[in-house]
Amino acid sequence: MHSDLRFDGSRAYAHLKHLVVDIGPRLGGSHNERRAAEYIRRYYESLGLKVRLEEFPVTNYDLQEKRLEVVSPALGDIPCEVYYLNQDTPPEGIVADAVYVGPGNLSHLGPEVEGRIVLVLRGVRSDTYADLMRWKPAGLVIIEDTVATGPIRTETLPEVRAKFGAVPAVRISHEDGLQLVKGGVERIRMVVQTVENQATSCNVIADLQGTVFPDQLVVIGGHFDSSIGIQGASDNAGGTVVAMELARVFAERGSKRSLRFFAWGSEELGLRGSVHHVKGLKKAHKDAKKADGFVKGRDKTELDTHVLCVNIDVQGAMLGMNEAMVLGPKDLAAAVRLMSKEHGPSFKVEETTYSSDNMPFSEAGVPSVGFARSGGTTSFLHTPGDVIDHLSPAALEENGRFVEEFLIRYATEARVFPFEREIPDDQKKKIKEYFEKLLRIDYLDDEENDKKKE
Ligand SMILES: [Zn+2]
Repeated sequence: MHSDLRFDGSRAYAHLKHLVVDIGPRLGGSHNERRAAEYIRRYYESLGLKVRLEEFPVTNYDLQEKRLEVVSPALGDIPCEVYYLNQDTPPEGIVADAVYVGPGNLSHLGPEVEGRIVLVLRGVRSDTYADLMRWKPAGLVIIEDTVATGPIRTETLPEVRAKFGAVPAVRISHEDGLQLVKGGVERIRMVVQTVENQATSCNVIADLQGTVFPDQLVVIGGHFDSSIGIQGASDNAGGTVVAMELARVFAERGSKRSLRFFAWGSEELGLRGSVHHVKGLKKAHKDAKKADGFVKGRDKTELDTHVLCVNIDVQGAMLGMNEAMVLGPKDLAAAVRLMSKEHGPSFKVEETTYSSDNMPFSEAGVPSVGFARSGGTTSFLHTPGDVIDHLSPAALEENGRFVEEFLIRYATEARVFPFEREIPDDQKKKIKEYFEKLLRIDYLDDEENDKKKE
């Protein structure tokens, strides 16, 4: 076979370089995110695919000032990152007594944290956030639980903030957290000044029509946004460029089934792009089924045509471990496992949820596989350390060729699509839990939520 018809790591790497070095940080809704979207759109158009941008609103932010100072004992300034979409302090900051409350489950907390700046070891998810906010602390200092990475750049979801309230919050490295606790930290000054923006983000969607089964659709993609002010090379320019290079291969090879290549916007802000897209599919599905002349079993909605979602998030680490997270029928996980054994390379295959853009699809009943490459330098995700220096063309190619072979066998060449369109009940439960408990968002189905509220 002509070598151009195989996934080429150096081509993917050239896109990667453009996204993370020439364009740079790609916060959801930012000017740079849109520049990246235009680059990807133009590339997909050059392949002859049918391309569109899908816009949606997001809340994003800018930093104005951040400062954390240990006043007593006088340890001075500690480097920190803002835990965004919380509350600003007054310009002069706040000063309060500090209390360390440990990690994880914080349901045991009581009035001892009221009015204090609370130090907590990582693991502040939406449920622990609710436990913290109940006692009205003055501020929050989150200590990372991974050494040598520095504090990560992330935010509270606006939906969570609306539900449980906000407080000025920062994140610090594990090492600094250790020094603070060891030094018997008593009093802290904190300054957090940010700007919030209502912005517009977008997905890039590129279609390749199937030649034999056009109404069987496989979606393939990864998010192209990054956390604020960082390259986001592994997470997830790497996955974006793997999808781009796969698009080139299949645009040339052709496919029996329809393929839809995605670059998702604003994943880091709470899966905004994929949630917006799947919400649209679900609404159209509902409306179509209600319409006159729709015959169940004969007619298909667009959502019905989705047979598989392949999501690629966190890719390219030179020294990384391959992983596949599967939601769907037993055969799907088995196929990835067998292919890894027989074809290589080694993949850790798990039937589990993975916090990324495949989740809204699987919530809507579409089986999904999430391909990732973890370990080593991927500890730097969401920090300025997630840089292109840790990635290589060879690592992109190793995963890219595996996904390519997987798609050829089961989607683009297969006589029969071998996987049932089903999500087992135990997985459905986990998916529901993911959206309700971890994100504390029931934002997947507005209509049903509106009814509940009435
Ligand atoms: Zn990611």
